[in-house]
Amino acid sequence: MKTFSELELIAPLEQALREQNYKIPTPIQAQTIPHAIEGKDILGCAQTGTGKTAAFALPILDFLGGDMRKARSGRPQALVLAPTRELAIQIADSMRVYGKHLKLRIALVFGGVNQKKQVRAMQQGAHILVATPGRLLDLMEQGYIHLNELEVFVLDEADRMLDMGFLPDIKRVISKLPNDRQSLFFSATMPPKIVELANQLLVTPVSVNVTPKKTSVKKIKQKIVYCERGEKTGRLHDLIRGDDVERVIVFTRTKRGANTLAKKTEKAGIPAAVIHGNKSQSARQKALKAFRAKRVRVLIATDVAARGIDIDNVTHVVNYDLPNEPESYVHRIGRTGRAGAEGIAVSFCSGEELDYLAEIEKLIGIKIERDPNSIKPAWKPKPKQGGGQPRRGGSSSRRKRSNKGGGSKSSLAKHRSSKRRSGGRKQNAKGNRRSIAV
Ligand code: AMP
Repeated sequence: MKTFSELELIAPLEQALREQNYKIPTPIQAQTIPHAIEGKDILGCAQTGTGKTAAFALPILDFLGGDMRKARSGRPQALVLAPTRELAIQIADSMRVYGKHLKLRIALVFGGVNQKKQVRAMQQGAHILVATPGRLLDLMEQGYIHLNELEVFVLDEADRMLDMGFLPDIKRVISKLPNDRQSLFFSATMPPKIVELANQLLVTPVSVNVTPKKTSVKKIKQKIVYCERGEKTGRLHDLIRGDDVERVIVFTRTKRGANTLAKKTEKAGIPAAVIHGNKSQSARQKALKAFRAKRVRVLIATDVAARGIDIDNVTHVVNYDLPNEPESYVHRIGRTGRAGAEGIAVSFCSGEELDYLAEIEKLIGIKIERDPNSIKPAWKPKPKQGGGQPRRGGSSSRRKRSNKGGGSKSSLAKHRSSKRRSGGRKQNAKGNRRSIAV
């Protein structure tokens, strides 16, 4: 797949992509879009930064944008479920950019803010809903959202959902989905629980795998700086003061660690913004805005809050603490070196973190360069866990999809396949009356 025109997307989408200067589909897009357009289920192993959002957004916009259906109050036709508010906002923003020449309504639903505006948007009708699980379920329970007319369901960052304790919520959402639908499932990693969930959700999916464990980090210069715990702050400040650091995201393992480090950094005369799960929605957005606008060049973050954040020109990522899950290392350093740019990832490693480092190197399959000026500390046991990631508690009904089983692929899929063959989408894009509604 060389160009977007080979994907035969509807004209308004092609126009938006031209305006975005997207010329060549990324591997996940090239592998996903043709199958998704035909209505097939997708099992995608890919992380943020690979162009995953457009891989699911374009087929949805292509399908709904080629159709002339009205948005129905409280009954979205496509749902994208994302683990964090930041990611949900980012997905909706991308959808709006790609869909700017289409008359589709995109609603956003997430927790931590008053629900009024979100309820109003749903009542007015939305074709596409991007949501986090908790607030979605709240609004469903209150009767503001019904999923019985849903045709396309996307579960994004499934592994992160699991880490955040969202599995029961996801299962509840899945239990409300109509059986006749298309599902697209994305996860950066595929541990057994995720495979089990995918099996429940998907019907004969096309598997797409672009998790290049080795190549994803190829463009990023990685370095390990050995140091004692107590030396980390000083080393960080020295690094930030260096000439080549334009914008840096600093990762800590805990929320408390992020707050403490921010205070010390401010005290050292370096303005820093902080995002983590205990910050209010508005505080998180404010911090991101300041960082995006380059009002502060240091963003201190925990894994969950930083997940999916897409900010260009982050020159450095610093792992102030090494993550206890090796996959998080890949996600973290992926915040730099976006869209083919080069980036630098520096990781501080104390004696307590030597085991984490070994796990990371096993996962990425390379030995990371050591700073020649740092001396390997003596091994110490791993730090105690806790405080790192917010977990959603609460009970939930675990009603499974009754009609799971493979056999009948949705009539939507069949319809969309025939639509593709007959070139129906192109006609729709030009505004002809032909409807592709099932
Ligand atoms: P994502 O993985 O969806 O977060 O995308 C990562 C970044 O790549 C975003 O800034 C996108 O705007 C950008 N991007 C996605 N697809 C393409 C493409 N085909 N060509 C150029 N940039 C892209």
